[in-house]
Amino acid sequence: MEHVSTRGEAPVLDFRGATLAGLAADGGLYVPARWPRLEPSEWRALAHLDYAATAVRLLEPFIGSALETPILERLVREALATFAHAAVTPLVQLDHRHWLLELHHGPTLAFKDIALQLLGRLFAQFTREDPQPLVIVGATSGDTGSAAIRAVAGLPGLRIVMLHPLGRVSDVQRRQMTTVEAANVVNVAVEGTFDDAQAMVKRVLADPAARARHRLTAVNSINWARLVAQTVYYAYAAVRLGAPERPVSFAVPTGNFGDAFAGFVAARMGLPIARLIVATNVNDIMTRALERGDYSRRDVAATETPSMDIQVASNFERLFFELSGRDPRATRVAMEGFARTGRLSLPPDLLAAARAIFRGRRVERDEMAEAMRWAWRAAGALVDPHTAVGLAAARAEAASLSGPIVTLATAHPAKFPETVEAITGVFPALPARAGPLFERPERCLTMPADARALLRLLDEQLQPA
Ligand SMILES: *Cc1c(COP(=O)(O)O)cnc(C)c1O
Repeated sequence: MEHVSTRGEAPVLDFRGATLAGLAADGGLYVPARWPRLEPSEWRALAHLDYAATAVRLLEPFIGSALETPILERLVREALATFAHAAVTPLVQLDHRHWLLELHHGPTLAFKDIALQLLGRLFAQFTREDPQPLVIVGATSGDTGSAAIRAVAGLPGLRIVMLHPLGRVSDVQRRQMTTVEAANVVNVAVEGTFDDAQAMVKRVLADPAARARHRLTAVNSINWARLVAQTVYYAYAAVRLGAPERPVSFAVPTGNFGDAFAGFVAARMGLPIARLIVATNVNDIMTRALERGDYSRRDVAATETPSMDIQVASNFERLFFELSGRDPRATRVAMEGFARTGRLSLPPDLLAAARAIFRGRRVERDEMAEAMRWAWRAAGALVDPHTAVGLAAARAEAASLSGPIVTLATAHPAKFPETVEAITGVFPALPARAGPLFERPERCLTMPADARALLRLLDEQLQPA
């Protein structure tokens, strides 16, 4: 399968190229040149497959000749072997309408493990004959960093340098990064904010001298391979609830709009999804975009759902491209305008196309807390604050929908124990698979918020192996 940039001016790449490139050279994002479609009989046949076989079946058409199927199969099985549940992403019923799709059974307790465990292995496979190591440089406000480190630790030919803002990630999140014992992992605490750390990474990735000395790449959700891996659990859940005969709705706790866009891709492939409910906290740029066509940047407010505290949803560009009928010129003009002014107005026809499948819903703190208490009371299910935002939106929209509504449970409650305890009175225990996080020694460097310090570190620590 060929992959094209949403802005139409970058080279067309195969799956391997798009995976290693991250951002396209014209500033756009890679998407497949066309959407593979499955017939109803093919969706029906998925009901007999386990998660890994479902993944191979759905990923194959995107990957094409970039990877032989037996190798894909092996990488998928190895990635999923790190999950603690035999169903990988089990469904839990809450009442006659509502279900949770638990995406947090991976090693770092958030859904990002599902895509990153595979992405790390794809990176290693795609670069295994290259003499120079591939260096993954990233900045994290929590969940992505820990999932990426766990995915890459110990893999041959890969190094990872992960920056986090000093003192601004939770203890569990920090220890999930700093207690990983692997020679190819470097943790850096930056004396600054997440935005400072992110700016340092961008500077280094754009630095020609650094790129000449090191082979650098990124792992944030602009990476197409991450999104395609996330389409799998939509299909896996929907066929278990009666698709393709019975359309299913999903409520998605949303930040960068990667997860919700993966659901949209599943729909483009022919999976009958009734509604995708995009649930945001008060940082509601995606809700405003999908309800009123108002995609405009505002200041970020810190909330108890930090993984959704964003003001620019990177994957909105992929949605715009699709809604515009895959018009790269219109997409480029719209996104360049947004970069200049911080505002973008969805034209009425594009908004109508979006609303054929999406609903946006902003969830206040009290509604989040009420949904968390309801799940505990109604079904004995302890959910994390991000999941509770999704569930609150699902419950609010239920009356206007028919059929089952699946809320994506994006993190384990033990990742955010203080908030869960404050709301429900129950302190969620850390699952055994998290390991003795609080007993292991931490390994972490500290540096000022200065891109030159990061460049020096790359030169000193990452001598070619
Ligand atoms: C990353 C994350 C989200 C947001 O997902 P996007 O793909 O960025 O929309 C929601 N919940 C949790 C727990 C996360 O880690």
